[in-house]
Amino acid sequence: MREVPLRREPVPPDGVMGGPPARGRFGEYGGRYAPESLVEACREVGEAFREAWADPGFRGALARLLAVHAGRPTPLTPALRLSEELGVRLYLKREDLTHTGSHKINNVLGQALLATRMGRRRLIAETGAGQHGVATATAAALLGLEATVFMGERDIERQALNVFRMRMLGAEVVPVITGSRTLKDATSEAMRHWVGATGDSHYCIGSVVGPDPYPWMVRELQRVIGDEARAQCAAELRTGVPDHVVACVGGGSNAAGTFAGFADTPARLVGVEAEGGAGAARGRLGVLHGCRSLFLQDGDGQITQAHSIAAGLDYPGVGPEHAHLRDLGRARYVTVTDDEAVRAAVRLARTEGIVPALESAHALAWVIRAAGDGELPAGSTVLMTLSGRGDKDVSTLKELL
Ligand SMILES: *Cc1c(COP(=O)(O)O)cnc(C)c1O
Repeated sequence: MREVPLRREPVPPDGVMGGPPARGRFGEYGGRYAPESLVEACREVGEAFREAWADPGFRGALARLLAVHAGRPTPLTPALRLSEELGVRLYLKREDLTHTGSHKINNVLGQALLATRMGRRRLIAETGAGQHGVATATAAALLGLEATVFMGERDIERQALNVFRMRMLGAEVVPVITGSRTLKDATSEAMRHWVGATGDSHYCIGSVVGPDPYPWMVRELQRVIGDEARAQCAAELRTGVPDHVVACVGGGSNAAGTFAGFADTPARLVGVEAEGGAGAARGRLGVLHGCRSLFLQDGDGQITQAHSIAAGLDYPGVGPEHAHLRDLGRARYVTVTDDEAVRAAVRLARTEGIVPALESAHALAWVIRAAGDGELPAGSTVLMTLSGRGDKDVSTLKELL
């Protein structure tokens, strides 16, 4: 792969979370494990993104879309009453306040704009619970693109409202009837479909997973979370930088975007996974969906199904850069149970008047636990990304509470 030195931001001293990874690899993870035609298509996406990312015109157009359509910048909210109870100073980066209610919009607007620049007329996407599908359909409608969203048949049954939303936004939703008929199979099917459509379609992956350049590209598109938070912390905190930076990890995009803003600071980075989807904390080396990373596997090396009350954390693996950050010791990955997440969601609702997505509630549950057992010393400052709002989870919570 040709290396084009186009980065404009200063690369952190050790290169961690900096420019495009050499040969698409983060340590021993990453790469492009795909059929020949997709390797070529990924190469084109990578080249186009590097060029676009170095082009102030593209950056400006994306920044404007993020401002006028998605509602950026998002606020940094001090969680005052909860901080008082916990004995730490907790600040929330409010991705729940973006249009469509989560950080996913940051990524899809960037990729949709890139697709337009590449002359593509259609977006292909996979979706589990429908969150990424809805975001993709939203970006497609905004930019006048078509959208085809692959979704497991079981997920279609379980997520009727999001299926309706996607169709209302003009997207085609294609049921996937292979395998377990959930996200893993929908992703395989979307990639298979892209093989025959690379000329006119862009494959819009929803997290920092998949073949190179996706893990790097999606992290850069989510970097806006970390960059904004860094500037907001500089203005808000006496020390300028928080002691701890915490985010939930499914594939790892909101965490990667958040961490990217603090990789070159002394802040401790903590990724919080679901107990039943702990790719970084408990996965083993494997290859899935075009990329080498850590995945939950059975004794025979088969990748197993993840289980989490939070649909966005229900992925059996983790993005390759997180696997690398774990190996380097630059970030730490911990797990939280469904039950802890539900209790954290209720606690945030009652103390701060914010109902978080159950994914984000995982990050909070770790903060609560760590403040309780002294892992977060009294008085320490914590920045936590609140990746999304809880509206989508109220029926789940209603069953439990
Ligand atoms: C999809 C989703 C996640 C998990 O995805 P990442 O790529 O790990 O960020 C987390 N929170 C919310 C609200 C989501 O919708």
